[in-house]
Amino acid sequence: MNFISTRNASPAVSLSDAIAAGLAPDGGLYVPQAMPDARELQPGHSLAQTAATLLQPFLAGDRLESQLAAICESAFDFPAPLLPLATPGDQVLELFHGPTAAFKDFGARFLAQCLTRLRGADARPLTILVATSGDTGAAVAAAFHRQPNLRVVVLYPDGRVSPRQAHQLGCFGDNITALRVAGSFDDCQALVKRALSDASLQARAPLSSANSISLGRLLPQMSYYAHAALCHRAQTGNTLNFVIPTGNLGNAMAAILARALGVPIGRIVLATNANRVLPDYFAGKDYAPQPSVATIANAMDVGAPSNFERLRWLYHGDDAALRAAFTAASVEDDAIGLLIARRHRHFGEVFCPHTATAVKVLEDLRNQGVEGDWAVAATAHPAKFEGVVEPLVGAVPVPPALNALLQRPAHADPIEPDYQALVQHILATPAG
Ligand SMILES: *Cc1c(COP(=O)(O)O)cnc(C)c1O
Repeated sequence: MNFISTRNASPAVSLSDAIAAGLAPDGGLYVPQAMPDARELQPGHSLAQTAATLLQPFLAGDRLESQLAAICESAFDFPAPLLPLATPGDQVLELFHGPTAAFKDFGARFLAQCLTRLRGADARPLTILVATSGDTGAAVAAAFHRQPNLRVVVLYPDGRVSPRQAHQLGCFGDNITALRVAGSFDDCQALVKRALSDASLQARAPLSSANSISLGRLLPQMSYYAHAALCHRAQTGNTLNFVIPTGNLGNAMAAILARALGVPIGRIVLATNANRVLPDYFAGKDYAPQPSVATIANAMDVGAPSNFERLRWLYHGDDAALRAAFTAASVEDDAIGLLIARRHRHFGEVFCPHTATAVKVLEDLRNQGVEGDWAVAATAHPAKFEGVVEPLVGAVPVPPALNALLQRPAHADPIEPDYQALVQHILATPAG
């Protein structure tokens, strides 16, 4: 199977090459040249087995094909349980049982396994650059920590991530450098973009990124939706519908792609915070990226969802067909807070602010009379966002994996948003 660009002006490449490249040379996003048929897919005994079967056609003929099962066993070595909520017919797909307690662990770990194997014995280490507003950087740092011949430089806006997120970013050391930038997330991203397009730096230190447009993160995320939907159908005979908290559309795009392959997934509803570009588009307005607004569900503070170009490609640019296939709803901060407090008071349930947007959207659907079996994707553990959640529900126990990271000493180097400072830190970071 080969991969082409959404903009149709790049040569077709293998999955390994698409993963190594990140963005296609014409500036588009890599997409599969053909859609494998997953209608006969059966649930594996484990998530890793479902993943390997689902992903196999995408790696047919690729140099990583024979290693796919091993990659999946390493990347998906923690569960994604589908558990009942207190409200009948409603479930939660918990995606936060990985090392950094957010769904991004799945994609980051798969990507790290692929890149480690692709690097092989190449003499020069590959540097992964990540600009993060929180969860991505931690997941990538954890996934690449001590991986041979790889190193990671994470940039985050100083003072603008939660204290626990900052601790997670700085606690690895070894081949991971955390830089706290005296600036905004956009400053961090601008530094990363400049480095990635700096040919003379690339000649000295090959660079790659690990953002949510990477196929190495997107494709593996299909696995947990497929596993949950297939297990649910095997047990109940019913099709599972999903509400997915959405920012850059990385997580939701994976569910959408899985459904397009024939995995038995019913409706997919997107839940956003006050950043309403997608709800406005699905309600019929033109697609109009905006500057992001800050919310209490800050991992979804996205004004220009980076995977939207893939979604449009999937629907051949037919906006009417795309709008007919999905709904999206926006939830304001006060409603997120009220939902967290109310579900805790009534049912003892505790959600992170991102998951809470999806629970609110599901409640609204039920109030409109929508039937069927639904699952909310729980994208992070509430203990990661203690500053938002604990004032509403009291102390939230920290899961063991997250606690282990919080017990380690943490260090981040302060830098001005200055390109030469970034270059020095890249060259000074040791490889794993
Ligand atoms: C990244 C993130 C999201 C948004 O996911 P996208 O793939 O960007 O749509 C939602 N919730 C949490 C906790 C996240 O870390």
